[in-house]
Amino acid sequence: MKARRVVVLGGGYCALYACSRFRRAVKRGKIELIVITKENFHIWHGFIGEMIAGKISPRNILTPARRVFAPAKVILGIINRIDRGNKLIHFTREVDGLPDDIEYDDLIISIGTRQNTGSFPGLEQHGYKLKEWEHCFQLRNHIPRMFELASSTSDAEERKAMLTFFIAGGGFSGTEVAGELGVLAKKITKRDYAEIDRSEVRVVLS
Ligand SMILES: Cc1cc2nc3c(=O)[nH]c(=O)nc-3n(C[C@H](O)[C@H](O)[C@H](O)COP(=O)(O)OP(=O)(O)OC[C@H]3O[C@@H](n4cnc5c(N)ncnc54)[C@H](O)[C@@H]3O)c2cc1C
Repeated sequence: MKARRVVVLGGGYCALYACSRFRRAVKRGKIELIVITKENFHIWHGFIGEMIAGKISPRNILTPARRVFAPAKVILGIINRIDRGNKLIHFTREVDGLPDDIEYDDLIISIGTRQNTGSFPGLEQHGYKLKEWEHCFQLRNHIPRMFELASSTSDAEERKAMLTFFIAGGGFSGTEVAGELGVLAKKITKRDYAEIDRSEVRVVLS
């Protein structure tokens, strides 16, 4: 009997769960499992706050896609369109940027959610998005950079701006990041930046 082809769109938490549930069926040859995702790693979101605050290393929250989704086959690419009538997924291949498609028998759509950046002006252009790995990594470096720059200026307004961290979204993730920033501010002003008073650092959660 031909194995049913199950295609999983996205390489996040749902994909992780689906792959673990289908592992036995894949090994028995009942299912051919394919994950299409744009990144070759899975991100452990739960520790992003700690990573941003420098408590843990970025490598502690990344797992190679090939390992974490095994025994699924992983295809790196950007998913563009689902053709439900013909049971086809259209995507752009990461390897050469060319369009491609793949047939499926069953489909799991798990490409995550879109972040709402419309609530504050400038957020889309200037904000760091916690769901984007590059943004989280950049933010990890941006925070100590602000302390460094603030310590080298005596302009009170400039210092205030550099030491104000605004978090858009007061849900679970935002609150967690705010807490981590508070702890970091306490530690970093005591250990590395004696010229900055802790009271100068503001973490605003909205
Ligand atoms: C900072 C942070 C902390 C969190 N902490 C927790 C926690 O402690 N506990 C908890 O239960 N939940 C937590 N969450 C929520 C949790 O991460 C989400 O509920 C979960 O990730 C949703 O899983 P998903 O598979 O639907 O999407 P995601 O995990 O977001 O995965 C989506 C995947 O689709 C890929 N993708 C998207 N678009 C395309 C495309 N066009 N082409 C190819 N690939 C694409 C992405 O690269 C990604 O691999 C946290 C979230 C964040 C941002």
